[in-house]
Amino acid sequence: MKKNSGNAGRSAFSYNPLLFQRSRGRALSRAEKSGLIAAGSTGILAFAVPILVPLPLVFFVLICILAPLFPGFSFFYPVISHGRRDVRQISLTFDDGPDPVATPALLALLARYEFCATFFVNGTKVRRHPELVEAILAAGHEFGNHSYSHDGCIMFRSPSRLAQEMLLTQRCLARHGVHPVFFRPPVGVNVPAYAEALHLSGLKAVNFSCRARDMGNRRVKGLARRILRQIQPGDILLLHDTAPPGAPHNVQLWLAELEQIFHALKKRHLKVVPLGALCSSSCKKNHDDLSEDSIHFLN
Ligand SMILES: [Zn+2]
Repeated sequence: MKKNSGNAGRSAFSYNPLLFQRSRGRALSRAEKSGLIAAGSTGILAFAVPILVPLPLVFFVLICILAPLFPGFSFFYPVISHGRRDVRQISLTFDDGPDPVATPALLALLARYEFCATFFVNGTKVRRHPELVEAILAAGHEFGNHSYSHDGCIMFRSPSRLAQEMLLTQRCLARHGVHPVFFRPPVGVNVPAYAEALHLSGLKAVNFSCRARDMGNRRVKGLARRILRQIQPGDILLLHDTAPPGAPHNVQLWLAELEQIFHALKKRHLKVVPLGALCSSSCKKNHDDLSEDSIHFLN
């Protein structure tokens, strides 16, 4: 393994016009198409029924405001949130790690059930805990990109900053020979700025269809009940392998809740498959797939 250092510092978070040059090749999103339709409808109504002129634009703005609240809504860019509903299989995903307490305990539990999971990691933690990345890899699990800093206000950042969040994490993982293809927005909030960032990084957005609203493991009690009452074939489960910041993490209770979920999955004959298989794609790709522009963008 290469030395886990690098120059992922403050200077990396800066405007780069390259991002906007590349956006030319991106297909129109549903949001952009809806905006054009709304503008066209406004023009037609101006001649036909002038009193209704504001309606299409009001409707469009309303969708734009509400869309980020729906993690699986492919409005601003394509989002994968579940697999096929007619096949009895699901995927386990764990966000916000790796964590020196939670992750090793989780790996042991996953090994006992022979389950494969996908770890959506933060670049800062990857740099801090390279040994945990190696342990996850050695156990045969997969990785996703969950931003570099997990900034609480990330949804208000520029496309340029978001792209750097993604590419810095890609670079941290590349030192371990890992090249994820999936990105999960922190807090699952889809905002328009991600469209440009995803286009540049070549990553695909993946959210989830089943979650316990555990608030990053602040609400662990009842986690299994909340998951098991809603889970269905094709689901992507959102869980966390992290200690909640500023709050105690009852790891034993968390593991007991997870074990209830794992046990129920076996009992209900819901096969746990890697996220790449559920989404009919691979979770890893060749480093060459990162465009030269992306590499320059980081430097
Ligand atoms: Zn997160």
